[in-house]
Amino acid sequence: MKYRKFRGKRLFNGRELFNNDHVLVMTEEGCVEGVVSLEDAGEGIEEVDGLITPGFINAHCHLELSHLKDVIPPHTGLIPFLLDVVGKRDFPMEIILDRIEKAEQEMYEEGIVAVGDIGNTDNTLATKKKSKIKWNNFVEVLSFSDELSETRLNQYRNVLQSFMDATADVETDHFKSALVPHAPYTISDRTFTEINRLTPGAIISMHNQEHPAEDELYRTGKGDYLSFLKLFGFDASPFPVTGKSALQSCLPHFTNGQRMLLVHNTFIPEEDIAFALEYGRTQLAGIHFCLCVNANRYIENRLPPITMLMNQGAHLVLGTDSYSSNWQLSIAAEIRVIRECFPEIPLSTVLQWATLNGAEALGRQDMLGSFEKGKHPGVVALDDQLNPRRLL
Ligand SMILES: [Zn+2]
Repeated sequence: MKYRKFRGKRLFNGRELFNNDHVLVMTEEGCVEGVVSLEDAGEGIEEVDGLITPGFINAHCHLELSHLKDVIPPHTGLIPFLLDVVGKRDFPMEIILDRIEKAEQEMYEEGIVAVGDIGNTDNTLATKKKSKIKWNNFVEVLSFSDELSETRLNQYRNVLQSFMDATADVETDHFKSALVPHAPYTISDRTFTEINRLTPGAIISMHNQEHPAEDELYRTGKGDYLSFLKLFGFDASPFPVTGKSALQSCLPHFTNGQRMLLVHNTFIPEEDIAFALEYGRTQLAGIHFCLCVNANRYIENRLPPITMLMNQGAHLVLGTDSYSSNWQLSIAAEIRVIRECFPEIPLSTVLQWATLNGAEALGRQDMLGSFEKGKHPGVVALDDQLNPRRLL
């Protein structure tokens, strides 16, 4: 068997950062043989000018919104932003498909090996089928009222079915697909119950506490989300007033052994982190918190409480969100911003969020996320400014 041996300035194996005395040994097909010391590495070592890391996991994206690049201005705040996405997402199909293709290519070149990708349609299917990236297709349900629940669910089940049908044409782990709820402010009680019933053991993703009005909606039935709901014909909140936060009101709908990925968490309070961690540990197969710092800066110009999440032991992963709210689809760019804003967090910690943690959240840790023998995690070099280059 032919091997490729990589020695960088540093080597991150998915958990630990080594200096240049470790060498990564891969087969030519991209399978990890091992990480060995320089003395044991033998001949034919490729010297790499940079830090070597496993490929990145983008745990949150909306590839189908790639045509919204530069369409929505930054810093509008979440509710005007949502109104813009709803009002401006219709484009000619050839442009939508072309931008999907280009965004997929960009993510590949940025060293991304798997994506947790939200979609309300199957517009991304053709690109994903031939992609070298692995895809968790989160078919996202929006259904504000109990009355419309069945109709809306059938619509999204058809989208899910097209991803399921395509699964036969691709490698077994190429697609993992499931229905997911969009967010507490778009999903009625009955719709939550149905999604729970339809997703036993699945990996679920939900946008969480991206704006303080989300909690107000559940606590009092009032607040800024009423203007968003009005657009869909609701003069009053269609959701129950529980007196609790949105997360505490909605997370308990999931009782079917799912793994939950909570996305954004920009305004999550300390007690809700504790609540979610306890619920995830005792009632679910696991809970993960996805940070999309560039999207948060783009929309609200505010960062999630990363230190508080870390202090409570939250399992963190990284996502880019979509081109409607980001300047690029690059996990390396997310790492750079976190390093800038939180220089006290060690690089190895952030790299683990971007690799092994992401792989665990997407149920892909058997093949991706670290340099362990038998995995196919991809190999990326990061230069001193943390710009990526794909090696394998
Ligand atoms: Zn999103």
